[in-house]
Amino acid sequence: MRITAADLDALERRFEGAQPLDILRFAHATFGERAAILSGMQRAGAVVCHLADRAGLAFDVVFVDTGVLHAETLATRDALAASHRRLHVVTLRPERTFAEQTAEEGLLYLSKEGQERCCDLRKSAPLHAVRGRYDALISALRREEGSTRAGVHTFSLDPEMNALRIHPLAAMPREALDRYLADHPDVAVNPLHSMGFPTIGCFTCTTPVRPDEPERAGRWRHLAGVEYCGINPVDRAVESAVELDDALAARLLAPA
Ligand code: SF4
Repeated sequence: MRITAADLDALERRFEGAQPLDILRFAHATFGERAAILSGMQRAGAVVCHLADRAGLAFDVVFVDTGVLHAETLATRDALAASHRRLHVVTLRPERTFAEQTAEEGLLYLSKEGQERCCDLRKSAPLHAVRGRYDALISALRREEGSTRAGVHTFSLDPEMNALRIHPLAAMPREALDRYLADHPDVAVNPLHSMGFPTIGCFTCTTPVRPDEPERAGRWRHLAGVEYCGINPVDRAVESAVELDDALAARLLAPA
């Protein structure tokens, strides 16, 4: 059955004001092991993982290792895998190492066009290689992040993955996120956050940020105007429709 964005309106209304855990429970009940959390091992993703794990909801956690991540990010992934026993971390990698890519194509990330190709090759392509494995990807985008994220819905579509995107923290304000972290010291928080990195990506393209700068000022600082890698459809203008199994679509769209 073909699902369009308009089909998700009722679902969006049904979960307006819902707690993130209720949205995760719904995702788990609807999709089972065909839903996964997509995390880059940043603070908000760690909260989603903690919520799911402590509620006993088993999910895969899909993590794309671009080959140029900080050691702290990889250590956070390992700590999460060890301390969140209901979750199963799945690490995806690009086809070529960064050294192989550089030998063949040069340092792509140093130009705007090259960055798009590099992010496609090292972030999006490994995820697209598992298209068909999941019907729903859960990520931690929040409207308060602003820019393209300001319009993020709890439920949206990812045609390239032929899957739903679910954002249980879409409506969560920063204070609530901070409060959750303060109340739960066992969340697997990437230590880079306390070293001046409000958001975290590849070490090649991420710097710390001054207190008077926007949170994403440290991403692609060397490339004016680049804000996102494109792994999240909300950051790109994409036509939205996906094909889901009829029974699954009926379960998804059934009134509460
Ligand atoms: S963030 Fe930089 S190094 Fe990482 S995939 Fe994108 S362009 Fe390449």
